[in-house]
Formats: sequence, structure tokens, C-alpha cells
Amino acid sequence: MAVWSDTRDAIVIAGGGIAGLSLALALKQALGSGYSIMVADPALTKTSRPDNRAYAVAAAARAMLGALGIWDVIAATAQPMTEMIVSDSRSGDVVRPVFLTFDGEVEPGQPFAYMVGSAALTAALTDACDAAGVVLRAEGVAGFDSGDTGVTIRFAGGEDQVARLLVAADGARSKLREQAGIGWVGWDYGQSGLVATIAHERPHGGRAVEHFLPSGPFAILPLTDGGRFGHRSSIVWTERAENLPALLSLDEIDMLAEIERRFGLELGEIALESPVSAHPLGFGVARRFVAERLALLGDAAHLIHPIAGQGLNLGLKDVAALAETIVDAARLGLDPGTADVLEGYERARRFDTVAMGAVTDGLNRLFSNDATPLRLARDLGLGLVDRLPALKRFFIREAAGVAGAPPRLMRGEAL
Ligand SMILES: Cc1cc2nc3c(=O)[nH]c(=O)nc-3n(C[C@H](O)[C@H](O)[C@H](O)COP(=O)(O)OP(=O)(O)OC[C@H]3O[C@@H](n4cnc5c(N)ncnc54)[C@H](O)[C@@H]3O)c2cc1C
Repeated sequence: MAVWSDTRDAIVIAGGGIAGLSLALALKQALGSGYSIMVADPALTKTSRPDNRAYAVAAAARAMLGALGIWDVIAATAQPMTEMIVSDSRSGDVVRPVFLTFDGEVEPGQPFAYMVGSAALTAALTDACDAAGVVLRAEGVAGFDSGDTGVTIRFAGGEDQVARLLVAADGARSKLREQAGIGWVGWDYGQSGLVATIAHERPHGGRAVEHFLPSGPFAILPLTDGGRFGHRSSIVWTERAENLPALLSLDEIDMLAEIERRFGLELGEIALESPVSAHPLGFGVARRFVAERLALLGDAAHLIHPIAGQGLNLGLKDVAALAETIVDAARLGLDPGTADVLEGYERARRFDTVAMGAVTDGLNRLFSNDATPLRLARDLGLGLVDRLPALKRFFIREAAGVAGAPPRLMRGEAL
């Protein structure tokens, strides 16, 4: 286990979620013993953090995990997504018209996304951080005071530590963002995402399915084989908040019946492989991504609807951009906590974030209702996209995160 050496060349990351841990690992691998890197998070005490979520990790994020040496550790548990189907229907509809299909390779042999278990990815990152010499501190950050030459970080237990930069990767309800006085433009969707692992009889063939139902999208996302019937998928079921208490009080048999109405019959008999967890859904973007000696990362900077499976992918793009900015500055002998350096990070990330936030917000509003004119308009729109290969290719490259000029780590290159 790495020990903190009291030096001013230090960066503290508050929040040991996937974004915070990935940044710590990227920085430690690139800067070596020249910098002390710490991740502080009270959740680091839990040896295995229970989490039934699985993420669609886009091709660019997969390339970054490859460059960090994490992909080899989790590859056996990652399911390639080889096809995606979108249907617009009501729950219980026997026939679900398919409006959009993507068969998903960005380049030959490179699927646009993989499904990866949150727990497996977090464990692999935590172990790699520990092995690389990142200091893992199982304690929250309570506050900070920024100054010209450094930032004094106050831990929950009362101890202080000085660093060049504090990275707030403390999630969507970031207290550190609040303390820095950074505003948040956001709203609650009045929806929750219900997540569970489902066992099924027939193979999914790597196909992801998204049914746009009136209360919100219902996604069936392929996982690696296993479980009671030999095959597994993860569901992300968006439901209106007012329906939640009744749904969550159902016993297993009735809950399964509700899931079956939405899941459909194509994959044969189904069973619950995990408890059903509920995650309130909202939207938000921070007004600034940086403040004096502070940078926001991941959900602390932006929160989006899971409709397109892009929230964590946005956070991993932040990681690639912030790591590149800090490492390039440090190698030139510059102080990575200064405003000039941090503003480079903000410029690199704000536009992309606001654009993705607007797309996911618009999609959710367009699809989470049952008004007939809207149904017709969106079905016509989806049908058109389906007939235009160039447009489809554009969407695939955007979803895979390989459009434009991604940072070095997202191209699979070392820093
Ligand atoms: C239903 C659902 C499905 C999703 N599916 C996908 C998907 O398929 N693909 C995708 O890309 N994204 C998806 N997302 C989004 C994804 O879950 C988030 O974007 C991602 O988990 C955010 O990671 P993070 O590291 O930024 O923050 P978090 O995971 O929220 O981690 C924040 C950490 O900070 C810690 N913390 C809090 N306060 C402090 C403090 N004061 N000091 C120190 N530590 C602190 C917490 O303990 C926590 O560990 C989904 C989201 C939902 C709700």
C-alpha cells in the first residue's frame, strides 16, 4: 500500500468512483514518483462495493482502459455489443415495430461498445491504483482552501493536506462543487432507472434492445453468458417516480411479471439474477468545470439521462482530457493547478458535454410520452435514419466516442 509523502507536487482526487480512480491511475502511470497522487473516498473501505449496474463502455473508453492496462483484467467479463435495435411500443404490445437497427462495428473487429460490470471495473481500477502507488485514503474530503501556490484539503477526520490541485470527482451531488461556488443548471426528470440482471433461456447474440415505452425507455443490454439459464442481460428500465413505491413493494413473482411485459418473449423464459435497484434520474451541467486549484470530473461536472448509456463515457472523456492537460503541464515544469492550465481542460470538455446533455435530454422528452402526433413524428424520424447509412455511421461514431479528435488516451496511446 502506497504511503503519502508530504510534498507540494501532489494531486488529491476526492471521489473513488470509476472516473476518480481512472484519473488517479492515468496520472500515476505518467508522472511516476515525481508526483504524489491520492484518492480519498469513504467508500474505499468497503472491500466489495455491491453494485448490480453494468455500463455500455464505448470504443474510445475501451481504448483508454486498454492504454491503462485495465482492459486485459476485465476483458473476459466484457460482452461486445454487436447490434442495437430500437422499437417504439407500449408495454405488453405483442408486436413491437423495429424502427432503427445498428450493427455495431466502428472499424472491422471493433464493436462500438462493450457491456462491463460496474463492480468488476471498480475492483480492477482500485487494485491497479494500489499497485501503481496511488495513495488510497478511506476518508471523505470535508473542505478546502485554495491559495496562490496550493490548495489545503481538509479531511473528514480533521487532518489537513496541501496539494497543487484538488479534483472533485464526488458525484452529481458534489459538495465540493457547491463549496467552490460553482452553479449547477439542472432538473429532476421525475423518473427513476430500475436496474437488474436477468437470466434468460435463449442467447442474446450480442444484441442490445431499447424499447421506447410511454413511461420511458426500457433497455435490454447483453452480458457475458452465465447464471441460472446460461444467458444474461442487464435491464435499465426508466419508470415514472410516482409508480416506484408500488413497483418496489412487489414480491419477486409479480416483479418478474412486470419485467416480462416489457422484456418481451424473444429470449424465452426469464428469471431475476439480482435484486432490482432504483436510481433517481436527473439532468445537470456545472456552470464552470474549474475554479481556483479545483477541477470537476465525471458526474460532479455533468449528469445526463442513461437513455444513450453515455454518462460514464462522458466522465471517462473528462479523465482523458484532464490527465493529458496535467501531464503535459507537469512535463514542461509548469504548475498543473494554475488557472491557465485548468482552463485548457474546461475548453476541451464543456462543449462536448453540453451537446451530449442536450441530445439525451431531447431524446428522453421525445420518447417518454404517448401522444399520437409525437409517436408518428419520432417513428418517421427513426425510420428515416434507418434508411440513411451515412447518418447511421455518424451516430455510431459519435456513440463510440471516436468522432473528432479524441485525447491521446482515448486513441489508446500512452500519455
Ligand atoms: C440507471 C443508470 C444506468 C447507467 N448506464 C450507463 C451506461 O450504460 N454507460 C455510461 O456511460 N453511463 C451510464 N450511467 C451513468 C454512470 O453511472 C455515471 O455517469 C458514473 O457512475 C459516474 O461516475 P463518477 O465516478 O463520476 O461518480 P460516482 O460513481 O457517483 O462516484 C462518486 C464517488 O465520490 C464519493 N464521494 C462523495 N462525496 C465525497 C467526498 N466529500 N469526499 C470524497 N469522496 C466523496 C462517493 O462515495 C462515490 O464513490 C448510468 C447511470 C444510471 C443511473
